[in-house]
Amino acid sequence: MEYSKLVEIYEKLESTTKRLEKTYYISKILRETPTDDLGPLVLLIQGRVFPPWDKREIGIASNLVIKIINIATGISQKEIEEEWKKYGDLGTATEKLISKKRQATLFTTKLTLKKVFNNLRKIVEITGTGSVDRKLKLVAELLTSAKPKEAKYIIRLVLEELRVGAGEGVLRDAITWAFLPKVVGIFFRCKKCNNWMPNTKTCLECGSPIINKFDKEVKDFSKEKDKLGYKYININSVNELEKKDLKKYDFIIAKDEKTARVIYNKLASIVESAYNLTNDFSKVSIIVKKESIKGLLNVKLEIGKPIKVMLYLKAKGIEDAFDSVGKPAALEYKYDGFRMQIHKIPNDGIKLFTRRLEEVTRQFPDVVKVIKNNVKGDSFILDCETIGIDPKTGKWLPFQNISQRIKRKYDIKEMIKKIPVMVNVFDILAYNNKTLIKDPFKKRRDIIDKIIKPVQDKLQRAKQIITSDIKEAEKFYKESLDKGNEGIMVKSLDAIYKPGARVGYGMKVKPVMTTLDLVITGAEIGEGKRAKWFSSFTVACIDPDTDQYLDVGQVGTGIKEKASENKSEATFGQMTESLKPLVISEKGRSVRVKPKIVVEVNYEEIQKSPKYNSGYALRFPRIIRIREDRDPEEISTIGMVEQLYKEQRHRSEKQENK
Ligand code: ATP
Repeated sequence: MEYSKLVEIYEKLESTTKRLEKTYYISKILRETPTDDLGPLVLLIQGRVFPPWDKREIGIASNLVIKIINIATGISQKEIEEEWKKYGDLGTATEKLISKKRQATLFTTKLTLKKVFNNLRKIVEITGTGSVDRKLKLVAELLTSAKPKEAKYIIRLVLEELRVGAGEGVLRDAITWAFLPKVVGIFFRCKKCNNWMPNTKTCLECGSPIINKFDKEVKDFSKEKDKLGYKYININSVNELEKKDLKKYDFIIAKDEKTARVIYNKLASIVESAYNLTNDFSKVSIIVKKESIKGLLNVKLEIGKPIKVMLYLKAKGIEDAFDSVGKPAALEYKYDGFRMQIHKIPNDGIKLFTRRLEEVTRQFPDVVKVIKNNVKGDSFILDCETIGIDPKTGKWLPFQNISQRIKRKYDIKEMIKKIPVMVNVFDILAYNNKTLIKDPFKKRRDIIDKIIKPVQDKLQRAKQIITSDIKEAEKFYKESLDKGNEGIMVKSLDAIYKPGARVGYGMKVKPVMTTLDLVITGAEIGEGKRAKWFSSFTVACIDPDTDQYLDVGQVGTGIKEKASENKSEATFGQMTESLKPLVISEKGRSVRVKPKIVVEVNYEEIQKSPKYNSGYALRFPRIIRIREDRDPEEISTIGMVEQLYKEQRHRSEKQENK
């Protein structure tokens, strides 16, 4: 497959902000891609060369890329830099420069998708002496044969800055549309060109109007299905879905509109579950292409590969939590540490991962040892919260302190003494080659109780009570807060474990504090004595549909000028150092940066505001801490901001009415 085909799609994705359109274009190229190219294509659409569980990065900075462009095209570095300033994007700058300088006839060899993918992958794999030069050559080789538009995206891929909005939700739907039967009436046939469209007003292929009416579509389908040679199956209830061999069919006819929607949602959720187990859309798309939903339903947890953790919802209080999960429920301390996934791999030792899927085994040999000696079993995956302990007082330390241990890659022994940790095991996903995620929580906890031998201040099962009694629950909540925990978790005894989902199988109850987790997208150089630092930061929430970051304000408070006793408090110096390598473009005193650094932000109020592209602005924002345990994709959503805005209006209306 030619790389230019992918570039066409990149361009289409960039030209629209509409989720349905993006999904349609991706689904189309997925269908047209030969199986052999499908894996690389799916990764490249996401701007990656490895699936998210594999944390290796290309890691070539902008200044080196400028050098490479110079070598490959002969265009001077100064000229490239000027063009970069003009467009704020090195990819577009390269495209413009190449089209100005080179004659069309020069592009002799055609770049294939595999060539681009393999070269980018090699960049990551090469290490050792002379590796920088070899990496440079690999990119230069691609640029020499690239047409201007192709070069634009090669540069963006190298910088890991694709920004075409192919987020997880879009990709999940695109895979569903591409490889599973279309539910008639959820999709609509263009009566002019016969292409099947999602719920759009006009055909995305020929521009003709589309009538999006369920009943009419089903009627038209039954009239024309034989003439058009469609392979279809009637499904009356979502429960039939998993038993059918869907591979044989291109369409599903449901008995009514509601059932049709439920069936479509189920198909998408099967794709999503397979993704949450594998963290790899390239793998998922190959499986579903070859084996349809049967293959997806057979996807197993792989011990040794990190899995997305299950997340919980927030309850308004204990009663609300009971209402959601039912009675009796399991109540547990909500420890304030960091989430750790512990894998024991048969004959291969123990691996530790954060919830961002980063491996931290090297940083925690003490944990490896305590698990090895005190947890029974040939293989398992444990879900835990690891907390720091003050070696002098024996008290539990808040998260900030332990974050030093996650970061530290040297003098580990010293760190173990300085901040010893304790692992609190609260869930188990697999045991002795058996996947447990479909088992009820009560059963999973019973296994935990059987296999773990607690070790004082090092390893324990999360403190738990099972109760229906609100008084007892309140006492437990108070006890947990007194111990320095964040609150309690209230969990359903019957619930399964749903990797990657934020579901109500457990609810967190903690004192109210409406903070937001936001990502830094821009910064401004300070004035006066702060002139050497970035001193004000633009922060953004996420639109989970498109994975686009939407600015909600600018924050300069909460950061210290000088390092204090509490090492975890960020200083302007540190923030500046961390942000410098992430700069994408500059304008006067301001820069835009790659959205990587997540901060927890407090504020007085949320206001509607045209100043930011989210439509909202935070009043008096203040950075509370840097959230190293959070991925930019996991930050507060625009939906949450909207919700908080509404709640606050509701509150003030109530107060006014008092
Ligand atoms: P928060 O900011 O409140 O920690 P979060 O978004 O990081 O929330 P949630 O799933 O919403 O994550 O809240 C539960 C978090 O609390 C878990 O991710 C885990 O790290 C931590 N935790 C501490 N103790 C427990 C426990 N007993 N059971 C489950 N999670 C626990």
